[in-house]
Amino acid sequence: MEAKQKVCIIGAGPSGMSALYHFVQQDNIPDIVCYEKQSTWGGQWNLTWRTGLDEYGEPSHSSMYKDLWTNAPKEASIEYPDYTFEKHFGQPVSSYPPVSVVRNYLEGRWTKGAESDLKRYILFNTLVRFVRYQDDTDRFLVTSENLKNGETKDDVFTHVIVCNGIFNMPNMPYFPGLDEFSGRILHSHDFKDANEFKGQTILVIGASYSAEDVAIHCLKFGAKQIIISWRTKALGLKWPSGIEERQLVVRFSKTQAYFKDGTKADIDVVICCTGYKNHFPFLEKRLRIDEKTCVYPAGLYKSSLFLKAGNNKLFYIGAQEQLYTFSLFENIALWVCRYITKNPPGKPKSKSEMEADAEQWQRRASLVTSRHDFLDFQTAIMKDLADQTGYTQDFLKAVPIIKKWFEHREEGIAGYRDHRFHSIYTGKLAPKQTTFLKAFDDSLQTFLKNK
Ligand code: FAD
Ligand code: NAP
Repeated sequence: MEAKQKVCIIGAGPSGMSALYHFVQQDNIPDIVCYEKQSTWGGQWNLTWRTGLDEYGEPSHSSMYKDLWTNAPKEASIEYPDYTFEKHFGQPVSSYPPVSVVRNYLEGRWTKGAESDLKRYILFNTLVRFVRYQDDTDRFLVTSENLKNGETKDDVFTHVIVCNGIFNMPNMPYFPGLDEFSGRILHSHDFKDANEFKGQTILVIGASYSAEDVAIHCLKFGAKQIIISWRTKALGLKWPSGIEERQLVVRFSKTQAYFKDGTKADIDVVICCTGYKNHFPFLEKRLRIDEKTCVYPAGLYKSSLFLKAGNNKLFYIGAQEQLYTFSLFENIALWVCRYITKNPPGKPKSKSEMEADAEQWQRRASLVTSRHDFLDFQTAIMKDLADQTGYTQDFLKAVPIIKKWFEHREEGIAGYRDHRFHSIYTGKLAPKQTTFLKAFDDSLQTFLKNK
């Protein structure tokens, strides 16, 4: 008889917690250990004032900052079908909640919304140091460290699910002259409070979500001027006065930035919003996704099962760039749970069939060049998974919401968060929220006054 399955989940953020949540609802629950290096669950949504290293000398995880609100409506992909915001808060809540509100909601889903005490499966303050696949035993050897007392421990698992997140290891570029520049230089991972930059002229490097949001936050909290410097393509949004875009910076002097278009500017601070690196230092090299963050990593069957090594027993959740977030993690987690507990969705597939399936998604991913392509692509991924997992097809109602969100962003990037949407699951329209640019208190208490 086959030995009981023993599953290791690495990380208790939204991805790892979706896996745990669904495992404990299966008929045959395997033995599960979820390792979490932080002292609590929530992953990125655990806001911290720490920059650089955490209290144990490990890289500080969360890249979020004070006063951050979601940058897409909660109705698009962070409301759980079986545990709505209204169920949690006892009232409908507005469409773009601040980080504290999302964290509170997640905690509710994992405690009140769960059938079982999920915390008992989690080892907090415990870092996975190394995972090795042993070919001879077909098992994974997982070395973890209790960060509180420094004790290390080896454990053996039949399956490993990697859920450590992909937006925590900064990609930090170099430009000539940065060594001489006398102002502050930081990555958006270490941007924690826009108040710090009041009255200053800021150079933001990058042209994606962090760049636009850091720029808007700095303006909102009183920065003097912000220049956003792009490499491949300008964001091209309607910026409020005080924010402008320029081509890439090519060099720095003590106090100035020089741009590709021949212009220069006096600046006080450089904030590199240059994205994150895939970082899986705790995995044996052959088990790693070995490429830059992307829309569909190579060798993943159903966005999760790693085909390159690990004998179909190593999985990733949340390892791709995301338009759908919590709903995507749920859908993938459901697929993984059912696959592992020997209730595989769909007909069993041979290795070559799985490889061909993964390759065709990767080919489709290579054709994604715009936000609309990305929406079509990730909706197709969601649909393919949902057809097999039974995840609610209601998620398709998110498509028009996301398209509206794109339109709102085009109309004015500083004001898109002032719009509101109907919940896919309750049908209720979200209440009005204080205008984003005038809201300076992001506490739960203040947020719940929006009715
Ligand atoms: P994470 O949330 O990163 O969680 C990973 C967990 O793994 C962490 O708890 C970490 O401590 C743990 N871990 C890592 N390594 C180890 C190890 N070796 N051993 C043990 N534990 C480990 N999404 C949205 O839907 N809406 C938003 O508005 C939004 N805003 C964002 C803003 C910023 C600045 C960033 C960076 C991301 C944002 N996201 C947003 C995306 C966000 O990453 C996801 O919502 C979500 O947090 C991803 O969940 P995850 O579980 O995959 O990863
Ligand atoms: P990202 O989407 O990967 O974007 C990185 C940007 O950096 C790209 O524009 C890239 O430009 C640029 N870049 C990389 N290296 C560069 C270099 N050497 N020189 C110049 N430019 C360089 O990363 P992100 O913007 O940090 O977003 C990460 C995640 O955080 C997203 O999921 C986002 O939704 C989330 N987020 C959410 C909020 C919120 O408000 N809730 C706020 C911030 C971030 P190229 O196009 O040229 O490669």
